[in-house]
Amino acid sequence: MPFRASLVTLYPEMFPGPLAVSLAGRALQRGDWSLETTPLREFGEGRHRMVDDTPAGGSAGMVLRADVLARAIDAASPEGDTRPRLLMSPRGRPLTQRFVRELSQGGGAVIVCGRFEGVDERVIEGRGLTEISIGDYILSGGEMAALVLLDAVVRLLPGVMGNAASGDAESFETGLLEHPHYTRPAVWEGRSIPAVLTSGDHGAVERWRRAEAERITADRRPDLLSRRPALPSGAGSRGN
Ligand code: SAH
Repeated sequence: MPFRASLVTLYPEMFPGPLAVSLAGRALQRGDWSLETTPLREFGEGRHRMVDDTPAGGSAGMVLRADVLARAIDAASPEGDTRPRLLMSPRGRPLTQRFVRELSQGGGAVIVCGRFEGVDERVIEGRGLTEISIGDYILSGGEMAALVLLDAVVRLLPGVMGNAASGDAESFETGLLEHPHYTRPAVWEGRSIPAVLTSGDHGAVERWRRAEAERITADRRPDLLSRRPALPSGAGSRGN
């Protein structure tokens, strides 16, 4: 069964948005994955279809109502739906490549996009939402965060990336940031490509890439080195 994404959002017109182009867009057209939106507005209260209200306890801003949001979630994800239910949220578990890969191996996801100050806490508990953050900054809504998450997932779906192997060597899959890349021209503004890359010595190229990846990771993200997964066998020595 192809990956099925269901978005609960006040702004359905933001989807598929950028996911309609390039790899993800072609995969969407082929039916390698699908996307549907549940417009929150349709589940609003009263003649004006109100979806939000003032925060209990007082403070600035508005909060998405539990009853309205729950009706929309139930429409998007009826009982028996086994897909994970996610809420895009700056308080959430940080999005990682590991989680992205896990999601890509499942049947899809129900993704709730917050707005305003966020959502009534009771709906998070009552509908078993897992909060996911895409980084330590505040967006104006969960839609862009959902697009980021889906972009990362869709490129891993079977048949989506032309060269499946190119998915494996990338930053984070190995626990290291990626080595630098070069292509033509051989000399650009007086800068040449490192000689080892044009030497034809594949072993030397591999060693150089690994050393560069380790150097860059140690320099920019030393935190990644302490959380590295075990090396696959035959991947060479890592010097510790
Ligand atoms: N008052 C909240 C921020 C609300 S931002 C707070 O201080 O934590 C409005 C909505 O944008 C959120 O409900 C969430 O759905 C989305 N959002 C904002 N930043 C996000 C992030 N870093 N990751 C994922 N979703 C985010």
